[in-house]
Amino acid sequence: MDAMSELDTAGQTPPVAPVAATRGRAARLFARAPAATKRAGGRSHHVEEHAQHRTAWLRAAVLGANDGLLSTASLLVGVASAAAGRSVLLATGVAALVAGAGSMAIGEFSSVSSQRDAERADLRTEAEELRSIPRAELAELTGIYQRRGLAPELAREVAEALTEHDALAAHARDELGIDPEDLSRPLEAALISAASFSMGAFIPILVVLVVAAGARVPAVVGAALVGLGSLGALGAHLGGAPPARPALRVLLGGAAAMSIAWLVGQTFDVSVG
Ligand SMILES: [Zn+2]
Repeated sequence: MDAMSELDTAGQTPPVAPVAATRGRAARLFARAPAATKRAGGRSHHVEEHAQHRTAWLRAAVLGANDGLLSTASLLVGVASAAAGRSVLLATGVAALVAGAGSMAIGEFSSVSSQRDAERADLRTEAEELRSIPRAELAELTGIYQRRGLAPELAREVAEALTEHDALAAHARDELGIDPEDLSRPLEAALISAASFSMGAFIPILVVLVVAAGARVPAVVGAALVGLGSLGALGAHLGGAPPARPALRVLLGGAAAMSIAWLVGQTFDVSVG
């Protein structure tokens, strides 16, 4: 932002934390805890941030497992209903696991990397502004604390003290919603996504391996629905929502995906294995 807008920030709405150009669902969860939550209650207590953090990782892992389970189960239902044998199904399942996990890892790595690049760019801009327009930056910080409920003089005092202590950290936290010590981590995001996808994909592969030919399709569908329902409930629980509706949504969606796959498999009903 330029010097003019910096000068009269007091009394305006706080600048919106920049949103990185990320598209992955998990990437949004991996993004630093939204500034809005911190702003709302002024909660930057260490323990709370850690809990929030862990929940974001767990929810991303639940989504990854969900993807692996449903995509692999649907694929196997489709191929099994085209009357494929066990070895073809095993090859199909393992290929789906490897391809999906790789795709998740690359997708997460690149989107969380852009997230981190955006965080770094914001920090650079902020550092530059602190050098070139320190007075406007102090006024900006004062305005932020005033809007959070501090009296003008106290807000000024707090802003001055924090600027003296570590100006960049104060602006990063309270203006941008970024913890400069804890930026987004692309490699961790990639590994967690790939691992959770693989765990989800492993369930239908295991079912195909142990269940006899005649019962395979219903067994894969049943196992997938139980898994999807549990993951849906777990994801809702982590998000602090009542579990019934999200579990039902994911069950209906999963049933629809597997039904379509089954119908497609039926139309290619050729004996291959
Ligand atoms: Zn600033």
